Amino acid sequence: MKIVMAASEVVPFAKTGGLADVAGALPLALEKAGQDVIIIMPGYKAVHALQNPEIKPFKDGVSYSKIGKNIPVYFIENAEYFDRDGLYGDKNGDHKDNLERFSYFCRRTLELLREIKFKPDIIHCHDWQSALIPVYLKNTLALDPFFANTRTVFTIHNIGYQCLFPKESLPKTGLDWGVYNIDMLEYYDKINILKGGLVFSDLINTVSDTYSKEIQTKEFGFGMEGVLAKRKNDLFGIINGLDYAIWDPAADKKIAANFSTKDMTGKAACKGDLQKFCGLPAKADVPLIGVVSRLAEQKGFDIVAEAIDEICRMDIQMVILGTGDLKYHQIMEAMVKKYPKVISLYLKFDDTLAHKIYAGSDMFLMPSKYEPCGLGQMISLRYGTVPLVFKTGGLADTVNAKNGYIFDVYSKAELLKTIKRAVKDFKLKKKWQDLALRGMKQNFSWSASAKQYIELYEKAKAK
Ligand code: ADP
Repeated sequence: MKIVMAASEVVPFAKTGGLADVAGALPLALEKAGQDVIIIMPGYKAVHALQNPEIKPFKDGVSYSKIGKNIPVYFIENAEYFDRDGLYGDKNGDHKDNLERFSYFCRRTLELLREIKFKPDIIHCHDWQSALIPVYLKNTLALDPFFANTRTVFTIHNIGYQCLFPKESLPKTGLDWGVYNIDMLEYYDKINILKGGLVFSDLINTVSDTYSKEIQTKEFGFGMEGVLAKRKNDLFGIINGLDYAIWDPAADKKIAANFSTKDMTGKAACKGDLQKFCGLPAKADVPLIGVVSRLAEQKGFDIVAEAIDEICRMDIQMVILGTGDLKYHQIMEAMVKKYPKVISLYLKFDDTLAHKIYAGSDMFLMPSKYEPCGLGQMISLRYGTVPLVFKTGGLADTVNAKNGYIFDVYSKAELLKTIKRAVKDFKLKKKWQDLALRGMKQNFSWSASAKQYIELYEKAKAK
């Protein structure tokens, strides 16, 4: 099959979250499975700041690179739209012209396919940033013979982000007013770009089975539950894989010592290294809790913030890496001042430190209020770091009492109770080691998930 991955962020070129991991790793697995795949993404300032992989001019307004054995990556260039800091926004909030920026990306993606004569069977779109592709295909380009056999698969990575604009902005997309009605892009007197993707794509999936069911409910649907209910026969769940070339404790060069299920001694060295790096006392028998996360309510920071003082008074150590809401930055900074020997905080995005935390921690705290898939818990399982999660979405599909700790009432009290239970169990060396080893042995490879995506593409093709 000829497949286009149209995504707004792709590892190793640009990343703000899990979407980039998927858009970077899935093509590699598809290529291995013999599929003909290309990637198209915006040529952000951050992309051009990279030394490696090399990015070359391709043609006017498009540059080019390659990943995997031979996967072309095309960058849609536009200095006005993409040569700036922040993929979708900066410290002042979302970029005001995101509608223009990503309409442009979607339109140019489709034009480019024609220019390079790549007639796709499938265009795989991700989140609101590429949601206008199915809209253009089913409207402006509905009669275009070039795309007559092209089908779209739309992946929802997080239904909370929808891209809403005043209806007056519709002309900026180049679409006509025919799409502005309640069954299409209209949403409470606004245009909703994500909704366009949900309505016009041929098939939809989300990144875990549980989340695909949750988003059909009012509690998790963010207003899209009605649209999704109409499309429930076209809606699937496929859990993300992990890129084992990046996340492998036996080969990871970013950590102090390598380890595997056969020889875990390196993990203790990683813990020592992390404690030293973070300025925490070098104690092997105190459980070290790691967090690598956006500091946002979605990630459970409302209950973490309520509980943090009590957590810091337990016999534990904690390292938090992440950025997010200012109020959580401030709460955590206050804790560092109060408990400097217990908690260490890094308010930044730092891939190397993330690796050190996954490898060097004993537990990984990820009590997300909702979690479409979540990579953090899978990475920590792979590194023998026992996850502690709330039972939702992809967390519910990957963590259970055999490999971690899971609580099912979202509250400060339940969070504290579960942490206390884990801290107590940590002293039971054999039990703890068994938990960690069971997690490490689980298979989260992309090849398994890629196989399911190929089946989904086949289903879309048959539509
Ligand atoms: P999200 O909802 O943010 O996409 P996921 O768990 O699906 O959450 O993916 C987050 C990814 O980003 C993981 O690979 C995680 O390790 C990484 N990550 C998050 N915050 C940071 C940070 N501050 N520094 C480095 N990596 C981070």
